[in-house]
Amino acid sequence: MAYNLLTINVAMTTKNQDNPIYSIGTAARMLGVSVQTLRLYESEGLIIISKTEGNQRIYSDSDIERLRCIRKAINEDKISIGGMKRLHGMIPCWDIIKCSSEERNACPAFKNHLGGCWTYKHEHSVCAELDCRSCNVYKLSSDCGHIKEQIKNITLVHHEQLLEHSPVYDEVAAGAVS
Ligand code: SF4
Repeated sequence: MAYNLLTINVAMTTKNQDNPIYSIGTAARMLGVSVQTLRLYESEGLIIISKTEGNQRIYSDSDIERLRCIRKAINEDKISIGGMKRLHGMIPCWDIIKCSSEERNACPAFKNHLGGCWTYKHEHSVCAELDCRSCNVYKLSSDCGHIKEQIKNITLVHHEQLLEHSPVYDEVAAGAVS
């Protein structure tokens, strides 16, 4: 979704966590990181950023909180960017969105776990029509503690599938993610 200046001005007067109001420079200052770092997180699929009609990135308070969570995971919990992507990839979006078995069996996010489901193309499923930034799966991944609870609840079948392929599972099982 692209935003124009009027939208942003309205957003600034009606404070809402999801309203995009901060430029990338302001967001970087708030987080104490470089603009390049924010671009890297976006290109790696850790976050989806809104853009203006002029293609300028704009950040909401929810985006800032998500980025704080990412920074904490990287700096304090020593999870790499690749590890964060795999954690996102282990969220059982199919259980949250309740897609059909036909849809999940055709879905690249069900078969892979190298990134959040929002990083895959969804051409023939319910997700093709949805806005990932507003989706509960994406929002859930903004909350580090909540991710851990979700991963704990993944069924044994999912664990067995993941154990075959996921080195990050050992990190999670060892309690490295808080
Ligand atoms: S709408 Fe996006 S975030 Fe939600 S389950 Fe589908 S791909 Fe994932």
